[in-house]
Amino acid sequence: MPENKEKEVLLDVKNLEVTYGSGKKKYRAVNNASFQIYKGETFGLVGESGSGKTTIGRAIMRILPTSGGEILYKGEKINGRISRELDKKVVKEIQMIFQDPQASLNERAKVSYIVSEGLLNVRKDLTKAQREEKIRQALLDVGLLPEFASRFPHEFSGGQRQRIGIARALIVEPEFIIADEPISALDMSIRAQVLNLLRQLQKDRGITYLFIAHDLSVMRYISDRIAVIHQGNIVELAQADELVTHAMHPYTRALLSAIPMPDPIREREKKLLTYDPSMHDYTAERPQWREVRPEHYVLCSESEAAAWSKGYE
Ligand code: ADP
Ligand code: MG
Repeated sequence: MPENKEKEVLLDVKNLEVTYGSGKKKYRAVNNASFQIYKGETFGLVGESGSGKTTIGRAIMRILPTSGGEILYKGEKINGRISRELDKKVVKEIQMIFQDPQASLNERAKVSYIVSEGLLNVRKDLTKAQREEKIRQALLDVGLLPEFASRFPHEFSGGQRQRIGIARALIVEPEFIIADEPISALDMSIRAQVLNLLRQLQKDRGITYLFIAHDLSVMRYISDRIAVIHQGNIVELAQADELVTHAMHPYTRALLSAIPMPDPIREREKKLLTYDPSMHDYTAERPQWREVRPEHYVLCSESEAAAWSKGYE
């Protein structure tokens, strides 16, 4: 990661709001979310299941319409109506890797088709032979054999299937990848391999990641910065180290308390914190997005900011 002054903002999310349904069934899954992702970094988004993480990813991908706010990619607004040209650029440069490799691959399609589907949209210029070469290279890039191209997804293990999903994203040479819980559905034993692959790809190609997870255990090691989301609201954002050592929001502290300890004795004695949103008294003071320490933001009232900072003076 370059130092602060050189940081280039790749994705700028401003006051994002995403709503499902309409009328009485209207449900706001993401509320006033703001964050910036710098070029080349791994930006972690963490929160329990149902908190709105995938919704944010899908809104950035333009799969879901937004009901408020702006999403800027390289300074250009990409939510709402955009030009055909910009849409093409976004489709090529932003890719997503999905949580469940069991569900996200088309069972009836051969690996060659699954991996190269994205090229059909963005690289119409390629000949069949060039496309085949790209498939071969994409499979090699993720540690799979080129021969796998003629097989079907059911012939592969969970880890191999996720590699196919990664090859599918890589083939269009994206700059930005949204990795939506890419290891959550995998066996413990292969999680590290997939993480290492993602890290290596970032190192080689300078890819920027929005990495989504539901807990902090792995996130704290792989992310440069982390945003914590609770019920559609981003409640805290900081550098990964800062977030772990100086967590302020009680929800972040609860997530931290849930990280398993390697030492079994400490694990047994560990106190699990729970978060109860009714602990906040926001009747007189509305919570605001505040910079409580340098580049450390928390959604809180002024008195909470004062009280929570005290412990770290
Ligand atoms: P996460 O990825 O953090 O688990 P999601 O973004 O999938 O959370 O979901 C956020 C909220 O939006 C949840 O309450 C979920 O039930 C709701 N939701 C997700 N998809 C839909 C949908 N297609 N229609 C209605 N509600 C949805
Ligand atoms: Mg999700």
